[in-house]
Amino acid sequence: MTITEENPTAAGAPSFDSLDPRTGAVVATHPIHDEADVRVAVARAREAATWWSGLTYAERADRLGAWKSLVTQRLDELAGVMSAETGKPHGDALLEAALAIDHLAWASGHAKKVLKRHKVPSGLVMANQKATVEFRPLGVIGVIGPWNYPVFTPMGSIAYALSAGNAVVFKPSEYTPGIGLWLAKTFTEAVGKPVFQVVTGLGETGSALCRSGVDKLAFTGSTATGKKVMAACAESLTPVLIEAGGKDALIVDEDADLDAAADGAVWGACGNAGQTCAGVERVYVHEKVYDEFLVKIVEKAKGLQASDDEGSQIGPITMPSQVDIIRRHIDDAIAKGGRAILGGPEAVGDRFVQPTILVDVPADSTAWTEETFGPTMTVAKVASMDEAVARTNDSRYALGSAVFSKSRGMQIAERLRVGMTSINGVITFAGVPSLPFGGIGDSGFGRIHGPEGLKEFTYAHAITKQRMKPLLALTTFDRTEKAEQQLGKMMKMLHGRGGKK
Ligand code: NDP
Repeated sequence: MTITEENPTAAGAPSFDSLDPRTGAVVATHPIHDEADVRVAVARAREAATWWSGLTYAERADRLGAWKSLVTQRLDELAGVMSAETGKPHGDALLEAALAIDHLAWASGHAKKVLKRHKVPSGLVMANQKATVEFRPLGVIGVIGPWNYPVFTPMGSIAYALSAGNAVVFKPSEYTPGIGLWLAKTFTEAVGKPVFQVVTGLGETGSALCRSGVDKLAFTGSTATGKKVMAACAESLTPVLIEAGGKDALIVDEDADLDAAADGAVWGACGNAGQTCAGVERVYVHEKVYDEFLVKIVEKAKGLQASDDEGSQIGPITMPSQVDIIRRHIDDAIAKGGRAILGGPEAVGDRFVQPTILVDVPADSTAWTEETFGPTMTVAKVASMDEAVARTNDSRYALGSAVFSKSRGMQIAERLRVGMTSINGVITFAGVPSLPFGGIGDSGFGRIHGPEGLKEFTYAHAITKQRMKPLLALTTFDRTEKAEQQLGKMMKMLHGRGGKK
């Protein structure tokens, strides 16, 4: 067994291997941190948080800037670790890491503007008060991350929590521990204090983090695990942020640029081997362009080959158990009368799944209702955009979505009950750091990214300061009858007009 330098495993202590999903080879061996280990990390983080939160925004931004530069300089090395643990092509790894760096820059650069104490109107009744609010760090944030975007996804919490002045203890997925450790190692190199630490292990280590006394737990992963995390955190009233699964729809209107829509659909469905929370899984196409659209997506997708060949655009399915889920969804669609116009049951191999396009699939098939997380898409013909909107909204998941339309993209987008929509593009919202990212329903709640993502890791501290004696002394036992009458008059003047008499 290899014992990594960054994460030494004591002799005889429990450990686990991280594997290269392309070959099954062991990448490295890491310790399974237990409850006591996690508590030690959180205690260390709490001490570091005192120092970190005491710095000015500029001082924190300087240090996060140093980390950002280091990660950028070693981007190729990071992409290499990402490819080894997830199997994703080097180019995809680079893109993912680049987007994460951009978010780190935005979060540290905007924290002061979004969070610092600022004045708010105090209103007529409290006109003698100066009212201000500041968003202060919570303390120590626990972050639990998935394996599919092992840098970009957790960094949506880590970068924003750190920028807001918190310390972070991160538990990466058991499939991608080396990536988490790489991030923590470079942070320590740049900053020098345990403000950002990593604990490694399996689900129990994540569960221990939920119960470790952290001040908030940011979870990204499946809806099922999200429920367990929430239940564990409820024991200590630890607040949670849940970024869970999706079953995102792409809508194609009759006036859409069909080449762009086909390109977006195929990349959105098959990019990262379909293992994208906001990936395209459902497609609703206007009947007037349905046949033409099908020809275009088959044409585009049939040139793609999932393999471990150098230069392949689609890598393996990272988590072996996911292959069965993908197979079951395709089988269910076919058994219920659907057709595969590309791929199908035979496209599902041991480690690799070839692009699969399903049509004529009944609405109760899991290919429509459950997250597949593979390079597949299920396509349906719709009579109108009203039908497309209704079917998109008819899902227990509600994360992202995409609309292709030349004339009414915004009109359609505004009717979708989802957290994010990209018009004439796919998943573009994730790359805009100033936009909040997150879902509703079974896709979770709370937001990473943008001002909302910074505030997510803070609490609001409201302060009023008396500027002058009040015109109406109301908050005293010396309140006079006259003051009460004047209050009544003022209320009638302010709020009593309009409506039914
Ligand atoms: P899982 O839910 O299996 O695991 C997520 C994390 O939770 C892992 O670190 C896992 O550890 C940990 N974990 C497992 N059991 C527990 C537990 N009882 N208590 C605490 N933590 C636990 O998800 P995947 O890793 O398979 O990730 C894929 C899922 O993530 C998909 O559903 C995808 O849609 C979703 N996702 C959502 C995103 C979003 O922003 N909405 C973004 C990216 C992915 P271990 O791996 O060691 O078991």
